[in-house]
This record gives sequence, structure tokens and C-alpha cells, in this order.
Amino acid sequence: MNIIFLGPPGSGKGTHAQRVSEDMGIPRISTGDMLREQMKNGTPLGREAQAFVEAGELVPDGLVIKMLQERLAQPDCAHGVIFDGFPRTLPQAEALAQIADIDVVVNMEIPDEVIVERMQGRRVCPACGHTTHVEQLGDSQSCPKCGQGLTIRKDDLPETVLQRLRVYHEQTQPLIAHYQALGLLRSADSSGAVETTRANVRAALA
Ligand code: ADP
Ligand code: ZN
Repeated sequence: MNIIFLGPPGSGKGTHAQRVSEDMGIPRISTGDMLREQMKNGTPLGREAQAFVEAGELVPDGLVIKMLQERLAQPDCAHGVIFDGFPRTLPQAEALAQIADIDVVVNMEIPDEVIVERMQGRRVCPACGHTTHVEQLGDSQSCPKCGQGLTIRKDDLPETVLQRLRVYHEQTQPLIAHYQALGLLRSADSSGAVETTRANVRAALA
């Protein structure tokens, strides 16, 4: 079973893709997490990607496609994967069609205004990569998974969020019509509370 989670930044794709991954016992592949890991480790790919990511731009298709192909060749992907943040452009969708059969695309629907508000509270753990929101943290501002102090992603600064939204509308939104035409698209409203969205995602996959 191969599932794509499609949606703008801040739509909760990562959170819900992770839950579905755990429920179904198939890995989640987040190109954003993979790129941040490469950047943290200062690999050649990470160094090449960094300026794009920090500016809120997309990393060039060739780099991301190659990285994804290598990941998909690993044995844990044999029984399907959850794609989170890939594909993000039509060329990426076409490249993916050559290497995997997609069963369903969950489109996370949320208005831009809600996104901007949400992203201001987003925090990430520099140690384990866990993403969370200040409203879910209570008094402690440390990582609920590993205890490390949380940080704000550079690309979550307000100007960059607006840029990422522009990039989403220009380059990623066309994938909605693309997958709709292929009969694969299911929508899940993700503008409400986490548990409401979780139910919507479940319904979309039922
Ligand atoms: P979000 O969904 O919140 O924007 P991600 O972690 O998925 O966050 O992506 C963060 C950044 O990583 C993107 O803004 C982009 O620069 C880069 N990136 C991630 N996935 C891709 C991709 N498939 N193609 C190009 N760039 C990507
Ligand atoms: Zn952590």
C-alpha cells in the first residue's frame, strides 16, 4: 500500500502521516525530515539543499528524486510507504509514477490564514526531529520524545512561511487536479483540532 499525503506546509501532514504509518506498520518517508538530517550532518546534499530550504523554496527536483529513489530501494519499503511532502511538483509526481504504484492520495485541506497562525507556534526538536506545537506542550518547552530543548525551524519564520505558501500554490497545488484525474484523490479537512483531523484522515482512508 503506497499512500501520499498532500497539503500545504502546516496542514498537519507530518503528524497524521506518522500516525497512519504507525497504525499500518509501514514507514513514513518525509523528504523534509531527510533534507533536514542531511543539512544537520553537513553532507554534500545537505549543503546543496540548505539555501533553498531556508529561503522557503523547493530543493531542485533532481536532488530530491535521487534521494527518494535511494530511500525506496531499502528493504523496509518493500510493503509500501507513506509519502509525506513528496511529490511536491508535477515532475516529481511523474518520476514517482515510474518507481511506485500509488493507491491513494490524502489531500489535507486548510485555509492559508489558519496555516500562518499555526506555524507561529510550531517547534522542532534539534536532537530527534520531532515536531510539535506550543499549545500541546504545557509548561515544559522541551521535547516530549527525548527531553531536548525545542527550537523554531528557520523556515518557520513568518516571511518564509508566506514564501512557502506561495511556492505551494504555484508548484504543488496542481498535483490536486493531477491525482483527481487519476481517481486517487481523497480529501481530509485539517483546519480543526488534531483529533478531528485524525478522524477525517481515517475516513478518507476507509
Ligand atoms: P512543510 O510541509 O511544513 O513545508 P517539510 O518538512 O515537508 O515541511 O519541507 C521543508 C522544506 O524542505 C521545504 O520547504 C523544501 O524546501 C524542502 N523539501 C521537502 N520536500 C521537498 C520536495 N519533495 N521537493 C523539494 N523540496 C522539498
Ligand atoms: Zn526530541
